[in-house]
Amino acid sequence: MAHKLLSRLAYGSRYNSVPWGQRVYVRPGERLIREAQWKWLTRRAPVMPREDYERVRKLGEIEEFLNCMMCGESRQQPLFQPSGGNGWRYFVVRCPSCGFLYRNPNVRPERLGDLYATGYSKFLTGNYAANRQRRYDLTMRAFSPVFDEGKERRLLDFGSGVGLFLELAEERGFDAYGVDLSPESVVEANGRLSRARTYLGAPEDVPEIAAGGFDVITLWSVLAHLPRPLEDFEKFRGLLAPGGVLLILTVNAQSLLLKAYGSTWSGFTKNHLMFYSSQTVRTLLARTGFAGVAFAPHYGDTVEAGTTNLRPDLVARLRRNVEISDGGNMMRVLAFADEEAIGRWGGGPQTIHRLNT
Ligand SMILES: [Zn+2]
Repeated sequence: MAHKLLSRLAYGSRYNSVPWGQRVYVRPGERLIREAQWKWLTRRAPVMPREDYERVRKLGEIEEFLNCMMCGESRQQPLFQPSGGNGWRYFVVRCPSCGFLYRNPNVRPERLGDLYATGYSKFLTGNYAANRQRRYDLTMRAFSPVFDEGKERRLLDFGSGVGLFLELAEERGFDAYGVDLSPESVVEANGRLSRARTYLGAPEDVPEIAAGGFDVITLWSVLAHLPRPLEDFEKFRGLLAPGGVLLILTVNAQSLLLKAYGSTWSGFTKNHLMFYSSQTVRTLLARTGFAGVAFAPHYGDTVEAGTTNLRPDLVARLRRNVEISDGGNMMRVLAFADEEAIGRWGGGPQTIHRLNT
């Protein structure tokens, strides 16, 4: 309430026509305020030994308590309680050592299927499909020329859903495969695809995929859903051919919108388990044997696509604030398996950060 009043005093109605998701990035001074707010929050919130934390939380039937998966820290800093329709609610903690944000209690890997019950594939089609495919295209464009032409390169889309990305990949000439946990999504995907094929289960369950030798692996809005990211990334690293790359699109735990909206942040969706920043994704990649990583700042779909209604000076301000704060709402990441991959694909506009393993 107080905040609403203050922002009305400070900004009047000048930014009323700017969509919510962009206001934080274009109102003068707001970035600094949100960053100060965040610093204050993370200093003030209590840090609890895990035994104490476990005592104040109920463990659901499909849940387990975790330590920080990135650094092993057991202490917990409770920060958020996202909730939503049909009564779902969970708790998000911050690792006081490395800053990793994760759901705790988390979901036990063997019960992950419970999150993707029947009907999950429905909202992934229809109107949603066109927007999704546009987002894939814009993300790949940021890392041009890596994804411009498939040239029969072997591609694995991990968490391929109803095959919206595989459809693009086969059009571009990739020799494309997918895996997913939802049986009905796999059926729907294979109906949509002509050359590409998608399979039910984990990569190691499917001989065509377990054979490895992939030039590209893609994780579209999948990273935040992984309950055992280190094990999965070791697998991905093993499935990549020399010179291979891995592309990630995920919500950004460094987002200015998270700093502004806390528990009601759009990245805290029902099925998300862990929330990465450019720092923690670097840790994940370094610990699983990747040689380098590059990031492309994400300015939001309408700015990327050039369809935004924002005035040009506000677009410039938005871009600047995303860059300075590393605070776009999504994160686009290109990971390089080895030195060969860096040599082959490292010529783009982004800086490559070498990962010392
Ligand atoms: Zn940590």
